[in-house]
Amino acid sequence: RIRPAARMEGLPTQFFAKLVGKANAQIAKGKDVINLGQGNPDQPTPPHIVAKLQEAAANPLYHKYPPFSGFAFLKQAVAKRYKEDYGVELDPDKEVAILFGGKTGLVEISQCLLNPGDVCLVPDPGYPDYWSGVALAGAEMSFMPLLEENGYLPDLLAIAPDKAERARLMFMNYPNNPTGAVATPEFYAEAVKFAEANDVVIASDFAYGAIGFDGEKPVSFLQTPGAKEVGVEFYTLSKTYNMAGWRVGFALGNAEVVSMINLIQDHYYCSLFGGIQEAAALALTGPQDCVNSLTAMYESRRNALFEALKRIGWKAAKPGGSFFCWLPVPEGYTSESFADKVLLEADVVVAPGVGFGAHGEGYVRLGLLSSEERLVEAVERIGKLGLFTP
Ligand code: PLP
Repeated sequence: RIRPAARMEGLPTQFFAKLVGKANAQIAKGKDVINLGQGNPDQPTPPHIVAKLQEAAANPLYHKYPPFSGFAFLKQAVAKRYKEDYGVELDPDKEVAILFGGKTGLVEISQCLLNPGDVCLVPDPGYPDYWSGVALAGAEMSFMPLLEENGYLPDLLAIAPDKAERARLMFMNYPNNPTGAVATPEFYAEAVKFAEANDVVIASDFAYGAIGFDGEKPVSFLQTPGAKEVGVEFYTLSKTYNMAGWRVGFALGNAEVVSMINLIQDHYYCSLFGGIQEAAALALTGPQDCVNSLTAMYESRRNALFEALKRIGWKAAKPGGSFFCWLPVPEGYTSESFADKVLLEADVVVAPGVGFGAHGEGYVRLGLLSSEERLVEAVERIGKLGLFTP
């Protein structure tokens, strides 16, 4: 008889798998479904990066086990990128861990730092992978509401003293998934103070760090004075270089935390294929115009989508970064009932906000991962349901 370990019960089920199932059922009926529910970049990896992998795959050095914690050249490449982009100095030996995508590190950091009975402060709404690590560590989550009136930044003064006292780890994520909010340097400075006062480690998830709109470049948490003493930043090539399938990410910052993450990574995975590491290094050190044009493309899509929303009377605030739009559902609907309606009656997939936490109720998330024409068509189809007044 197979008996799952107790920790398996704490793992959140894949809420969005249900959504994919419902969308596939519509597609199977022959419907032309526009999927704005997922977060998978729709563009290919720039060709110079693909060509580097093709060439590097033939190098016999990479056919053996890679070195523990990865190749030095990739750690140097990401340190160079941070220096150029943010003015942040990182010691490639001690302050950089190479990950299988940001996701693995975001789960592993909880295992590195949390014991049963410890508290982890988690944004609500937020990226569900934070929950998984906390569940695997057998620790407790305390949700920090992200409210529209606070610009979707958590109110650190509102954290209950008994939770703050038991807290060992705090997640933050800007540019934010799902709300599209961006953080201010003042907020990060407050977060460092909170971490120092409460002995809490900060995990800054910077997955959308490259995607900022209206001329605003998102700030890195590591630019904050004192940040490296209290935290690490998770950085990934998935969105910045359209490399989601390659699984390349990093933990950067506090040397003690980085060393724990390196150790746990080594036990699970050893390290990434060397050819991928070489191509990833080229992504980081080669021409960066691909990143600028990607951001410009998302901004133009965002603007086209918001013009269309305005025409149908769907009022919402524009995201400042990431590739997500966070829109309120009309009166009388929950995020799930609204998502079901637009799927069944308009053949458009949107992600129900409740899948990101209780405070996501009342909203849906739309991804800017289809062409402008398809985004506009999706909004027009929703407009025809007559739920909004133009
Ligand atoms: N963090 C956030 C907020 C995300 O939305 C994602 C991916 O969708 C990730 C991290 C993980 O990125 P990856 O594992 O591809 O680096």
